[in-house]
Amino acid sequence: MSEPSIFTRILEGEIPSEIIAETENTFAIRDINPRAPIHLLVIPKTPEYRNVVELAASDPELLAEMVGLANTLAAEHSDGDFRLVFNTGPGGGQSVFHVHAHVLAGGLDEASTGA
Ligand code: AMP
Repeated sequence: MSEPSIFTRILEGEIPSEIIAETENTFAIRDINPRAPIHLLVIPKTPEYRNVVELAASDPELLAEMVGLANTLAAEHSDGDFRLVFNTGPGGGQSVFHVHAHVLAGGLDEASTGA
C-alpha cells in the first residue's frame, strides 16, 4: 500500500484545511498556493485514479461530477466563468498523484495558464 495522498489526509481530517464544498463523491478546498484570484481544487473522494486520463477511462460519471462542482463553485466564488486545469504527469506540472482539477477564476490573465 502506498502512503495516503495529501488530499486523502485532508478529507480524513489529518491535515487541517477547510472543505468548502462537497458532493456525494467529490470535495473542494482552496489551493494553499493560489495562482489566480480564485484558485480551488476539486478532488474525488476516492484516491484510486492518479490522473484525469485514468479517471475518464474508468469513471466518466465521476469526472462529470467534478466538472459540475467546479461550475457551481465558479458561480459561487466568481462570475461563473472559469478555467479548469488537470496537470497530468510530472512534466505537466502534476505533483499530487490523486487526480484533482484546478478551478481558476476571477480576473484571469491571458498568459496565466499555469496552475
Ligand atoms: P498539482 O501540482 O497539479 O499536482 O497540484 C497540486 C496542488 O495542491 C498544488 O497547486 C498545491 O499548491 C496544492 N496543495 C498542496 N498541499 C496543499 C494543502 N495542504 N492544501 C491545499 N492545497 C495544497
